[in-house]
Amino acid sequence: MIGYLMRNVFYKKQTFELTRISLVEYGFSVNRPFEAKLKLYHWKDVRSIRFSDNYNEVIVEYLGRQIILRNSNIGWYEFIQNVPSTFENFDFKYVAEFIDSLKPCGVCGIVTVREQTCIVCETIAWNDEIHKDKVAYLTSKQSEFYAELVKDGKEIKKIVEPEHGFKADSNWKLYL
Ligand SMILES: [Zn+2]
Repeated sequence: MIGYLMRNVFYKKQTFELTRISLVEYGFSVNRPFEAKLKLYHWKDVRSIRFSDNYNEVIVEYLGRQIILRNSNIGWYEFIQNVPSTFENFDFKYVAEFIDSLKPCGVCGIVTVREQTCIVCETIAWNDEIHKDKVAYLTSKQSEFYAELVKDGKEIKKIVEPEHGFKADSNWKLYL
């Protein structure tokens, strides 16, 4: 099972069923599934922006309405890193600590491992309890993830690039 971010990052597939948040010059846009129009929001009209209690959502007070942005929305992690510093109630410290706490993923190469699981490819990070041989584990996981590209005769990039506001690990290695 390949997660939505993985599909989006590695296969550039259309993911119509997913809400997508993008940063634009004066604010952000939200493209929800089955809505014909992209909605644009200006920072100047945002009254407040804060995390939900479990930090899985951001609640935006906008022109008398509430907009909920979830961490399952594409672009969410990039969004939370780009909230203007003028929103004093926003928990910038949490964002900084969260991004700082992430570790590189040996499988996809993006720095997105949180609590032993990669946010992007959803692999469990290697440890000697799940497999005694690190390279064998990474090789088998990588071949699972890239099977579709290999089948289609597409080239797999040997160097990983930053995606969705996450850093890339320059020491990442493709074992295929
Ligand atoms: Zn990964």
